Amino acid sequence: MADGAGLLRVGPLKVLIDGSLNTRTAYCVDPYPHGGHGLLTVSATELLDLLVRARESGFVPAVHAIGDAANEVALDAFAAAGITGRIEHAQFVRSQDFARFGGLGLTASVQPAHALDDRDAADSNWAGRTDRAFPLRSLLAAGATLALGSDAPVAALEPWTAMSAATTRSRPDGRGPWHPEQALTRQEALTASTRGRGTVRAGDPADLAVLDVDPLAASDAEFAAMPVAATLVAGRFTYGAF
Ligand SMILES: [Zn+2]
Repeated sequence: MADGAGLLRVGPLKVLIDGSLNTRTAYCVDPYPHGGHGLLTVSATELLDLLVRARESGFVPAVHAIGDAANEVALDAFAAAGITGRIEHAQFVRSQDFARFGGLGLTASVQPAHALDDRDAADSNWAGRTDRAFPLRSLLAAGATLALGSDAPVAALEPWTAMSAATTRSRPDGRGPWHPEQALTRQEALTASTRGRGTVRAGDPADLAVLDVDPLAASDAEFAAMPVAATLVAGRFTYGAF
């Protein structure tokens, strides 16, 4: 493998099995108001074959699944292939499937800002079922490992926007929070954004952000636009310096 000075890594094998909410191509159990269930772009059999090949080749699979039917297909395939990995987005999940994320050791890779970008689309396309849309709290409570992300370039590459959306389920635009019962605590959002590393000791991987404000004590407005004094990657300053 190429020497990337420890900075270059091979990522997961990403497989997209459905579309998106706004285009009404996310594959769903119930029909859209305009008709159709969305698209399953990779069949269950093909997906199982890809996950088995990933397992044999040592790749971590990351399956893009947005609709509840797509998430069911992805969970079934992970179970049948006997491999763990990630489900990307997990925006809409059947209630009976939440616990399967934890049971299968899967990471739900979620983009909390999309919940606010897409709340109107969710309210119209998934009317009456949005209690299980962008279900961060339900996934965490059921034992899933959560990984917060931005989905850049679809949304801004800004972790504080994602963490703010996850913790407040609202934006400072005057609209009230959307399904605040699905919000995370600040600590949970930080843990889900740092691969669970809460403390740093000598010898640990040192990809660090130095903040001007305590993220657990900051106001919601400060937290959403966190002032960053410096960042380090692999122990070297990449922004700011002391
Ligand atoms: Zn995706």
